[in-house]
Amino acid sequence: MLIVSKFGGTSCACSEQFKKVKDIVCSNELRKCVVVSALGKRNKEDNKVTDLLYLLAAHIKYNVNADHIWKLVFDRYDEIKKAFGLKLDLEKEFKVIKSNVYEHFDENYLVSRGEYLCAKLMSEYLGYKFVDATDLFYFNYEGIIDIKKTDDMIKCKINLQDRIVVPGFYGTNPNGSIKLFSRGGSDITGSLLARGLNAQKYENWTDVSGILMADPKLIDHPKKINVINYNELRELSYMGASVLHEETIFPIQELNIPIEILNTNAPNETGTIICKD
Ligand code: ASP
Repeated sequence: MLIVSKFGGTSCACSEQFKKVKDIVCSNELRKCVVVSALGKRNKEDNKVTDLLYLLAAHIKYNVNADHIWKLVFDRYDEIKKAFGLKLDLEKEFKVIKSNVYEHFDENYLVSRGEYLCAKLMSEYLGYKFVDATDLFYFNYEGIIDIKKTDDMIKCKINLQDRIVVPGFYGTNPNGSIKLFSRGGSDITGSLLARGLNAQKYENWTDVSGILMADPKLIDHPKKINVINYNELRELSYMGASVLHEETIFPIQELNIPIEILNTNAPNETGTIICKD
């Protein structure tokens, strides 16, 4: 029995948030599989690392000096490493990334490093094994996830006794290069993993305690939805409810794995459960 727990960008934004993630993961021993996004915003004015990486890619593509952006990205990871005295050699990691992108520019590879480095730090911090997403998630020639191959690879690469951290948001093309999901796609990574491992539950940890009945920017204190079914949520996502990526449901719907939307900043609050009935 195991739970897949996915932590979004704000849940991994800095060392203070990493600490909350550890407390949550350690409070239930079924939380054996952790999926992380890249570091998100620490406050309203802040930048998401993924956005900085896209900006970096544009600089490199047009031959504009990008040292200041590299530093912004490096400092975000370095703050976490230093706060916990982790051993990951960030200088070396960045050297490898830089030499790869300046030798052979690949935007997908560069942007995927946001999740990759976050997962590297998180795995060391939790004492969990790092398993790279490139070894688990496979796309076909049409650019669509190959569910059969992905299921098989998850079953073959992951030992159910292991405790693991997996970076969200990317997988492998048939030619071996990295392919990203669409924005917000770490939700899909978690869902595919929960499916492949036949998890008891897929937890999606974010910065709100579940799905609200209205947009809080428009309506004051809307009520929370406690339980919603897969089809209702799908409909809401297609219509623009922005809590979960719209493609999150399909991998786990046929296995009836429930999803729970929870708040990293208020872990004791109940969230929203998405299930069959
Ligand atoms: N980091 C990616 C994004 O900002 C993917 C994700 O967070 O799910 O879109």
